[in-house]
Amino acid sequence: MIRIIGGGLAGSEAAWQAASLGVPVTIHEMRGVVPTAVHKTDKLAELVCSNSFRGDKLDNAVGLLKEEMRRLGSLVMTVADRVRVPAGAALAVDRELFSQGITDAIAAHPLIRVERGEVPGIPLSVAGSPVIVATGPLTSSALSEDVAAFVGRKHLAFFDAISPIVLAESIDQTKVFRASRWNRSLGGVSPDGEGDYLNCPFNKDEYLAFHAAIVGAEKASVHDFDNTKFFEGCLPIEVMAHRGVDTLRFGPMKPAGLPDPKTGRWPYAVVQLRQDNIAGDHFSLVGFQTQIKWGEQGRVLKMIPGLENAEFVRLGMIHRNTYINGPTVLDETWQTRARPDLFFAGQVSGVEGYVESAASGLIAGRNAARLALGVAPAAPPRTTAIGALGHYVSHADAKHYEPSNITFGIIEPLAHAPKGKQERNLAISARALADLDGWLKAQGSGLGVQGAALIAEP
Ligand SMILES: Cc1cc2nc3c(=O)[nH]c(=O)nc-3n(C[C@H](O)[C@H](O)[C@H](O)COP(=O)(O)OP(=O)(O)OC[C@H]3O[C@@H](n4cnc5c(N)ncnc54)[C@H](O)[C@@H]3O)c2cc1C
Repeated sequence: MIRIIGGGLAGSEAAWQAASLGVPVTIHEMRGVVPTAVHKTDKLAELVCSNSFRGDKLDNAVGLLKEEMRRLGSLVMTVADRVRVPAGAALAVDRELFSQGITDAIAAHPLIRVERGEVPGIPLSVAGSPVIVATGPLTSSALSEDVAAFVGRKHLAFFDAISPIVLAESIDQTKVFRASRWNRSLGGVSPDGEGDYLNCPFNKDEYLAFHAAIVGAEKASVHDFDNTKFFEGCLPIEVMAHRGVDTLRFGPMKPAGLPDPKTGRWPYAVVQLRQDNIAGDHFSLVGFQTQIKWGEQGRVLKMIPGLENAEFVRLGMIHRNTYINGPTVLDETWQTRARPDLFFAGQVSGVEGYVESAASGLIAGRNAARLALGVAPAAPPRTTAIGALGHYVSHADAKHYEPSNITFGIIEPLAHAPKGKQERNLAISARALADLDGWLKAQGSGLGVQGAALIAEP
C-alpha cells in the first residue's frame, strides 16, 4: 500500500499512476478538515489561481511535457483535455469541472482511498509501503517543520503573487478586440480569424500614465515580504514596473503579433484577458500577478482601456511557497537519497507550475508502485521533458537552486540541431516522444503481468 500526503495535482496523479499499476493507495488530504489560506473547496486537484496549463503545441516545452503525460496515461491530462476552454495555443480548463472530474475519477477507483485530515509529520518507514509527500506550496506548518528537520536547513519558504479576474459583462467591448497572438489558436489559425483573447490596447500616453500609477501604488503589508524572493516567471507587475518604464511593454503587456482591427497596427502596449471558465463570464488578466493593496488595485486596473467600469471577481494577492532544495535531497526517480521509500512530488519537491507538479507526481507514483511491487524505480531519459524535469530537481546547482518550469533549456541538447528555433524545438520534441515510447516499452517488461498490461494500455 502506498501512502500519499496531499491530494493536489501531484498527489492525485501519483495515486492514479500507482493504482493503475495495481497497487492500493491511500491519499491523506487535510482539506475538508483543515483549510489552507488559498484553496476554496475540499475537491482534489483544485487550481488555486490561473486556469491555464500553458502552451499545448510541440514547439513549446510545456506542450511536449503534456503530450508525454498523455502517453503515460495521465489522469490530469485526460480530465484537462475533457474540460478545456478556448485559450489560443494554450490549454486552459474550466477550473470547477476540472477538480470535480479528478475527484470523481479518484473516488471511483477501487484501489484508491481518500482519508481526510492533516498529517503532522513524515510517516515512519513500513516495509512495502512507500510514502509520497505531495503537500504543495502551502504544506501545513507541523509537516513543514518535520520536513525541515528531515532535509535540514535547506528547507526554504518564498513567495509568489497571483492575477486578478474580471466579470465579462463589465468589460467595455467597444474598446477591446479579440485576437490570439500571431493569430494562433486551438489547432492552428483561429477558424473565425478572431482569436481567443480579449485585448485591451494602450496608446503611449495611456501606457505611461498606467506605468506611473503602478509605480506609485501602495503595496500590501510587507511584514513577511521585505526579503521576498519571487520566482522570475511569476513576477508581480509592480516589481517589473520598478525595473524600468518599458519592462511591462516587453513582458506581459507585449503588443507584438496583436494588430488592433481599428488601426491595423500593433498598439503601444496590451493587456490580454483570457477566458477563465466555460460559461465565459470570467476573464483573468494574463501575467498580472500583483501585491498592490486591494483598494489601490481597483483604482489602477480601471486605467486599463476597456476596464474603466470593470467589476473584479478576484483581485491579485501574494502567497507562500514551500519547497525543498531538490538537488541536495532527491534522486531523479523523485526518491529521497536518505530514505529510498520516501518520495517528494509537486511544488514542495522544487518544481514550479500545475503541469510540472502533476508530471512529478506521475513519475513518483509509478516509482512508488514499482518499489511496492519489488521492481527497481526508473527515470525516463533526459531527452524527454519529464525525464529532464527529474534530472533538473536532482542535479541543478544546489547553491543557487530555484524551482523551474519545464523549458527546452533543461532537456539534453540535440547532437545535430536544425537551424531556426522552431525547427530545433520540434526536432527535440520528435526525439523526446520516440525515446519515451522506447522507454515505456522497456519498462513494461520489468513489471509484473498486471502492471505491464496497465502501462501498455493506460
Ligand atoms: C496562491 C497560489 C497561486 C498559484 N498560481 C499558480 C498558477 O497560476 N499557475 C500554476 O501553474 N501554478 C500556480 N501555483 C503553484 C501551484 O500551487 C502548483 O502549480 C500546484 O498547485 C502544485 O500542485 P501540488 O500538488 O504540488 O500542490 P497542491 O495542489 O497545493 O496540493 C497539495 C495538497 O496538500 C494538502 N496538504 C498540505 N499539507 C498537508 C498535510 N500536512 N496533510 C494532509 N494534506 C496536506 C493541501 O491541502 C493540498 O490539497 C500557485 C500557488 C499558490 C499558492
